[in-house]
Amino acid sequence: MKRILVTGGAGFIGSHLCERLLNEGNEVICLDNYFTGSKRNIIHLLNNPYFEVVRHDITEAYYAEVDEVYNLACPASPIHYQHDPIKTIKTSVVGATNMLGLAKRINAKILQASTSEVYGDPNIHPQPESYWGNVNPIGLRSCYDEGKRCAESLFINYHKQNNVRIKIIRIFNTYGTRMNTNDGRVISNFIVQALKGEDITIYGKGNQTRSFQFVDDLVEGMIRMMNTDNTVTGPINIGNPTEFSILDLAKKIIEITGSSSNLIFKPLPEDDPMQRKPDISLAKKTLNNWEPKVSLDEGLLKVIEYFKSVL
Ligand code: NAD
Ligand code: UDP
Repeated sequence: MKRILVTGGAGFIGSHLCERLLNEGNEVICLDNYFTGSKRNIIHLLNNPYFEVVRHDITEAYYAEVDEVYNLACPASPIHYQHDPIKTIKTSVVGATNMLGLAKRINAKILQASTSEVYGDPNIHPQPESYWGNVNPIGLRSCYDEGKRCAESLFINYHKQNNVRIKIIRIFNTYGTRMNTNDGRVISNFIVQALKGEDITIYGKGNQTRSFQFVDDLVEGMIRMMNTDNTVTGPINIGNPTEFSILDLAKKIIEITGSSSNLIFKPLPEDDPMQRKPDISLAKKTLNNWEPKVSLDEGLLKVIEYFKSVL
């Protein structure tokens, strides 16, 4: 039995990861400050004696004896990470420093939930890990993008300088059950709007693209990455390479829900990336032929059922 710390464990992805790690017979410490996470996401795990919940902010030092750390704490939705940009930077940079310090002291392996946002508005398509990205360092998204880029630099330098066993994954747009109804990201927004019969808000013309990964596929990739040997540090892209335009996504959600909602067009937010699609050849090669298994249609059905139950 391993003892595993999951920061951001009460969030959307973190709660699925905690559940899977517990099901595999591990002891899990879920650490969260509940900024965007919720006790509801983990309430079903609370009667497991091997599950421990800690209210804590990773910008403050934290001490525990664990074998592995998954560092997920950070708001991920643009509206939430832009709410307090300085705090977002501190969470990525000071938070990562605290968690790396912890991993160094106790010789734990540590995985960083990095992001496709490190590629910014990419000039290369699809995006391989070797691409350095196109990020506006002073734009609205920079608190998140540059925070995550700095965290990657911290991780790689703790590895080089202090031999900390690190793993960096770059997560591409992920959706699933337990996303908040007010999360603000595109899939939850569109489904909630469609189910309520409200207008579907398309930012820009809707010709920008994203590639959507179901959360179970991501969790599988994260665990495989953590279990790689010490020579594997990443960064490695984890995402679903099937690309859709935002307009097609809206039409698909209207069709599946049978909604009478209308499409309305709103201004495109500053620096909104025009296209995004992961090159996952490195993940396939390194993570035992890992690849996403859940299609967008299958995943959307599950999430639509979930939102029907919570609305
Ligand atoms: P989320 O907002 O649901 O989860 C983040 C969790 O971190 C929340 O529970 C929040 O309360 C907690 N948190 C935030 N700041 C904290 C702090 N200072 N101290 C302690 N806890 C804090 O988002 P998510 O989609 O589950 O994302 C999880 C991680 O994955 C994030 O690091 C995010 O950047 C990364 N990621 C997600 C996606 C995606 O599409 N979902 C894509 C790329 C990267
Ligand atoms: N988007 C949209 N309507 C919404 C929410 C988002 O058209 O109600 C667009 C957004 O402008 C972006 C894409 O959907 O082009 C994905 O946005 P999201 O916030 O989910 O993730 P990110 O931009 O970080 O990939």
